[in-house]
Amino acid sequence: MVGDIERIDLGEVPYGEAVGRMTGRVGQRRADEIPDRLALLTHPPVITYSARTPPGAKLASIGMRIRGGVTGSGDTGDSVRHRDDGVPLERFTGRVLVVCPRCGGRAVVVPRPGLPAPRYATELLFQPRRLACPGCGAVAEWVAAMRDNALVGVAPGGTEDPFFRRPLWLQTRCVGHILWAYDEVHVDALAAYVGARLRERGGLSPTRAMVARLPAWMKTSEHRAEILAGLQTLRGLAERSAPADRSDAAHEHGDRPRPYRSLYFRGGPY
Ligand SMILES: [Zn+2]
Repeated sequence: MVGDIERIDLGEVPYGEAVGRMTGRVGQRRADEIPDRLALLTHPPVITYSARTPPGAKLASIGMRIRGGVTGSGDTGDSVRHRDDGVPLERFTGRVLVVCPRCGGRAVVVPRPGLPAPRYATELLFQPRRLACPGCGAVAEWVAAMRDNALVGVAPGGTEDPFFRRPLWLQTRCVGHILWAYDEVHVDALAAYVGARLRERGGLSPTRAMVARLPAWMKTSEHRAEILAGLQTLRGLAERSAPADRSDAAHEHGDRPRPYRSLYFRGGPY
């Protein structure tokens, strides 16, 4: 049986960032946190050299002009490495509370029941899904589109669930923006971040995945109290499920993320 492999098209990425990402992925793969992954990317023109590069071959000596960055000064690793040990947003997609397409109450989107637990969090973006509403009995199924014999992954982010594109149930207005979460676990993770940031300034790496993607207004300490109150509102919403309990913010906002451009070649069918 062929192993699973994910192919992801990253587009153009600055060289240093690309090296940093790859370095982080190597660690994650060794820890068996992610599947084998083929990452396709381009980076702007760049020249690298090491301590062993003869002086005559160095940039200044040959008078070359290039666009893009220059990297390397005898050390082509550590100066650009950054650890990406944050929890990815996809890890919070295991359970997504959404507005039911039939009754407007709270429905839940989960991987299709009976599937083995995903081996990697990234698999959550490809596994077949079921939407079910305990209130009215509505049920819907979702399967990933196929391309080149691979499953096309969804792109998490924004105020819709990534699979059925339903508005999230957990949405509330907060300092002129929409505060949202997939479920209570996600709310708790956001609260931990918003709270912890101020106790330990700089204690959390800005490159942490889910956290790194947060909008600027959530990262500044300015709105801490309002955001924590908003998260408390989301907790309250999570406990209610009737159509009348729907938040006035739980509607479409047209903030779909760009396609993830990720394919997943599975060893076998789901
Ligand atoms: Zn319903």
